[in-house]
Amino acid sequence: MIYLDNASTTKPCKEAVDAMVYCMTDVFGNPSSLHRLGVEAEKIINEARKTIASSISCESECIYFTSGATESSNMAIKGIAENYSRLKKKIVTTEVEHPSVYQTISYLEKKGYEVIRVKPQKDGSITAESIINEVDENTFLVSCMLVNNENGEILPISKAFSVIKRKYPDVITHCDAVQGYMKIPFKVKDLCADIISLSGHKVEGPKGVGAIYIKKGIRVAPLTLGGGQEKKQRSGTESVPLISAFSAAVKTKKDNIKERLEIAVAKKQYLLQKLENNKDITVLSTINASPYIIAVSAGNIRSETMLHYLESKDIFVSSGSACSKGAKSHVMQAFNVDDRYLDSIIRISISDSTKTEDIDRLLEVMNEGIKNLAYAR
Ligand code: PLP
Repeated sequence: MIYLDNASTTKPCKEAVDAMVYCMTDVFGNPSSLHRLGVEAEKIINEARKTIASSISCESECIYFTSGATESSNMAIKGIAENYSRLKKKIVTTEVEHPSVYQTISYLEKKGYEVIRVKPQKDGSITAESIINEVDENTFLVSCMLVNNENGEILPISKAFSVIKRKYPDVITHCDAVQGYMKIPFKVKDLCADIISLSGHKVEGPKGVGAIYIKKGIRVAPLTLGGGQEKKQRSGTESVPLISAFSAAVKTKKDNIKERLEIAVAKKQYLLQKLENNKDITVLSTINASPYIIAVSAGNIRSETMLHYLESKDIFVSSGSACSKGAKSHVMQAFNVDDRYLDSIIRISISDSTKTEDIDRLLEVMNEGIKNLAYAR
């Protein structure tokens, strides 16, 4: 099997699976219980909190565990709107956000908030200035992703957020860092984000767990009320196995992000070189995008048809974003991808274990598919 759909989800690493099994068999106590089993479970969560905190260079009190980045971003956006929008009503975001951010902001827009969605330039890039210029005295929240999940575009968050914070210190900055986490090195301080959303299953951890970083002093209204877990930020019994597995996965990755990134860059270059003289496959990601995500259009064959052809040869990719389930992507339209490519987008997302032979085989089968599937244009 050749798995090249790592932006959708990753195969959990052995360390994550072992941590999960250990917690489910040996440390099954409720972390709120006062007896030994509860205390052991609580210890595991606190250790995990330290690991996630050290992975983005922040204090562990600023990390809260959630069910994933969707919940983290919902909490961030709704929770900030609840506490910081009495006098100001404007949110600045981008047109290319993941649905977990896009839809949450649309929900607020329907309730009467003013929303500005910054669009990429003609060449597909988003400049820091285009974000900064939309922020004004009436803005209370800026929410922008670090790496786009459909084409890997890296947004200039540090630059945009640092200028915004200097000009308007009261504006809250939120970053969905899911596709950059453990792939592109970043520190909370450099990002200038007050709130950051992270996900476990994109970094070889399990599904159903994530985290939110909330800067000290920022008041995010919780989504859930109840037993007061996670310092009242997220009531509900903590999933010790998922949290522990998430942290085990991060532990294996957090100290060599740069080295792994260099290897990923070399793999992307290898793929691009192989495509240089290929008239049938068009690369839609920019050269500066994250090397982990490469969007291409394969010979105008409909995405789903090509996806299943590749699957029949045991190669797994995605048609655009997994969330869009084959629908024409408004995100790729916003990135100014030519109309003629929109129905045939294939997203190749590599991992640390992707080999150059995997890339060779993918291109071989894709070229074969372009010939055999001409009827599906
Ligand atoms: N943000 C981005 C950029 C993503 O790619 C994803 C997952 O596809 C999410 C948020 C949602 O993460 P989760 O599945 O943990 O809710």
